[in-house]
Amino acid sequence: MSTAQKIEIIRTNNPKPKPADVSKLGFGNYFTDHMFIMNYDEGKGWHSPRIVPYGPLSLDPAAMCLHYGQEVFEGLKAYRTPDGEAVLFRPDRNMARLNLSNERLCIPLIDEEFALKALKLLVKIEKNWIPDGEGTSLYIRPFIIATDPHIGVRPASHLLFIIILSPVGAYYPQGINPVNIYVERKYVRTVRGGTGYVKTAGNYAASLKAQDEAYSQGYTQVLWLDGVERKYIEEVGTMNVFFKIDGEIITPALQGSILGGITRMSCIELLRHWGYRVSERPITLDEVEKAAERGLLEEAFGTGTAAVISPIGELKVDDRNIVINDNKIGEVARRLYDTLTGIQTCRIDDPFGWVVKID
Ligand SMILES: *Cc1c(COP(=O)(O)O)cnc(C)c1O
Repeated sequence: MSTAQKIEIIRTNNPKPKPADVSKLGFGNYFTDHMFIMNYDEGKGWHSPRIVPYGPLSLDPAAMCLHYGQEVFEGLKAYRTPDGEAVLFRPDRNMARLNLSNERLCIPLIDEEFALKALKLLVKIEKNWIPDGEGTSLYIRPFIIATDPHIGVRPASHLLFIIILSPVGAYYPQGINPVNIYVERKYVRTVRGGTGYVKTAGNYAASLKAQDEAYSQGYTQVLWLDGVERKYIEEVGTMNVFFKIDGEIITPALQGSILGGITRMSCIELLRHWGYRVSERPITLDEVEKAAERGLLEEAFGTGTAAVISPIGELKVDDRNIVINDNKIGEVARRLYDTLTGIQTCRIDDPFGWVVKID
């Protein structure tokens, strides 16, 4: 497939009314008028890229993605700038990560530049769907599914690459608030050698049980420990995690079971740019507990595209409860949040060249 491949555009005759009240958008409830699709067929490669009216897919009930989870996805956002322009944040990183996921799931690689071109064209067509309102954005979900009608476990020869768009509301309609987190002892998300470092459906199906139990006990999310020793901290919910202990900012090193977040990467780069001491290294739950006991645990927060920064106010470890920074957002979390959201919406200068304008 070449980057020059022409994208066919078929426009809808029935544009949907846009949700009027942005405060009721929530996350992932509404979808725009169009979607991008292209096919993969063995021998032909990726072909027939097109933007078509949003609507149901027709799949054979034996389609392999429905049985064995050969699927990968990405998540990023388009933001509206104060001048009404549409921008993306480091989208090349999402395309590179999509191929990392493809490689792990035996899915044929995509042409990253072409996929980004298609994504930009789709967002351009749907530009009016980018909500206008503090903290709102247009969530972009590229994904690939295996469609061979075949009930046998093997890599697919026929796939679909699809991009859909969803206008989403502010993650923090009431202002950024710390969350309480349940340290998960029983279930694990993934292990080294598994698929934890890529975005594939099965990881999330496997995490539902822990999330559900934590939620029913009044916690927002779980803190995942490593699957082998249940000792090292990995992630929080579907976010990467950072701790500030006695001046050092620590985030678990990417060693095969942790998803390499683009927000995580951007936080590390920003913090180093500001002169903070940042360590990507293994960190145990024990180290965090001991630091808390000695009054050295200054901050903890999660990072990810949806929330950007999610401060952790409380950690429930067995029958113990660790309160962090008086259950208030810390200085570092606040600075990262303000800077990242400022750069993402072009309200502040982008010295790193992270923001990409739509045409
Ligand atoms: C997507 C994701 C993240 C965050 O990645 P970003 O690129 O920052 O959005 C972290 N952990 C998991 C498990 C994820 O799926």
